[in-house]
Amino acid sequence: MGLCFGKEMPAESKANGYHGGMVNQNQIQYTKSPGPEAQLPVVRPKPSPKPAFRSDTILGKAYEDVRLHYSLGKELGRGQFGVTYLCTEISSGEQYACKSISKKKLVTKADKDDMRREIQIMQHLSGQPNIVAFKGAYEDNGSVYLVMELCAGGELFDRIIANGHYSEKAAASLCRSIVNVVNVCHFMGVMHRDLKPENFLLSDKTENAALKATDFGLSVFIEQGKVYKDIVGSAYYVPPEVLRRKYGKEADIWSAGVILYILLSGVPPFWAETERGIFDAVLKGEIDFESEPWPSISSSAKDLVRRMLTQDPKTRITAAQVLEHPWMRGGEASDKPIDSAVLSRMKQFRAMNKLKKLALKVIAENLSAEEIQGLKSMFMNMDTDKSGTITYEELKTGLAKLGSKLTEAEVKQLMEAADVDGDGSIDYIEFITATMHKHRLEREENLYKAFQYFDKDSSGFITRDELQTALKEHGIADAETIKEIIAEVDIDNDGTINYEEFCTMMRTGSKQPGKLF
Ligand code: ADP
Repeated sequence: MGLCFGKEMPAESKANGYHGGMVNQNQIQYTKSPGPEAQLPVVRPKPSPKPAFRSDTILGKAYEDVRLHYSLGKELGRGQFGVTYLCTEISSGEQYACKSISKKKLVTKADKDDMRREIQIMQHLSGQPNIVAFKGAYEDNGSVYLVMELCAGGELFDRIIANGHYSEKAAASLCRSIVNVVNVCHFMGVMHRDLKPENFLLSDKTENAALKATDFGLSVFIEQGKVYKDIVGSAYYVPPEVLRRKYGKEADIWSAGVILYILLSGVPPFWAETERGIFDAVLKGEIDFESEPWPSISSSAKDLVRRMLTQDPKTRITAAQVLEHPWMRGGEASDKPIDSAVLSRMKQFRAMNKLKKLALKVIAENLSAEEIQGLKSMFMNMDTDKSGTITYEELKTGLAKLGSKLTEAEVKQLMEAADVDGDGSIDYIEFITATMHKHRLEREENLYKAFQYFDKDSSGFITRDELQTALKEHGIADAETIKEIIAEVDIDNDGTINYEEFCTMMRTGSKQPGKLF
């Protein structure tokens, strides 16, 4: 078997600015102005100190020892930037993988920005089928730690080597998983740029293990209308338009087509002794369907490979079309629909109290353009008539594209939950609010800005009046709701919400369990 993979091309440094803004350091007075009833000095619990913003950190939050929450076990593998360990969550006993990245290796600003972007993209995509689930990020003096779902079945690459090549049925099933990843990435506004068997891990050691994409180190949020020029990826999988330095998301389909060719035949379609030779073969684009085992492979499989390895990106098949191709449909039934991340985030949002919903809106309004790029693309993909709002029909179709099958009643309930201002459709900011990842909250300055929004007089406490004013501005204040919120959030029972209580509320799940579904 002439498998000769490896050899990465140098990833061009991608100056892609990170805009984690510093919060305005206005003086804050932590004293309450005495009301008429306050004859005696009121002893208040000491307000929480202003959070320390760590602009020098990678994660933008205070250092936290990963070992407080996880015990690190044996080494699972090594990469360019660090070591991945087996780890066990102390509170639950659940096993995860913990990837440590040595900060010494993140030398330039571009390295650090790349790292941040990789984490952001992982968080953005987490929860989708065939994508490794993200659990948490920690940082100390020396390293950044990413805790994620454990994939105990090893790399797809090693399974291909062990198997030689796959049956059409097995190849179709793997191809479906890989193209699912491409479809979800593109729908959610991400271009992967480095699809290859090494970047897919298997969930366990069984035959039917699920494939999970794990590495988003070269991925980017797709900017509408931008022509990409960086030459990135690995030689065998690189499409011709990348070599010509003018490409878009169609590039991922080519790489997936190369993987499919390898799954079916055991050898890469564009092969040579040198990198230059491989590039020449890619640019020529001739596909060998004559050598063994191709004569015995179905014409439908060859048709799909040809469509994926089409030179012109404009006429190349799209991810959604691959999933509908007769060869894919002839194989096993599609994976059973799993809740997409979008759906589960909307469900969580639905169960939140009004203060939390509004606070999330304030955070959403303050996120940098880069932080919401992925959600913005997704919004635009759902808003098919480009009206600026997502209607009931658009939400239903959009969620179906991400693999969720919902009844009319369920879509309606989600619609009502996300539609904070109750005008019957979901506008851009409402969509970002309801679907943004809860990890956005980990950035201390986001929480702080939201708190400041409610704490109008900067006293360090959100009072009943302040809450009422804020909720009224958004047309959602009734005395009962305000009472309920204070009762739920005010841990020390002093009738107001301090910063610590606010953070606790934002970081913990809702008390109301999701009643829906
Ligand atoms: P690279 O620098 O090649 O991208 P990584 O640091 O991502 O490498 O991963 C190195 C190795 O660690 C992988 O080949 C795999 O064996 C192991 N690994 C990474 N992520 C996981 C995971 N979620 N579960 C199990 N093993 C993993």
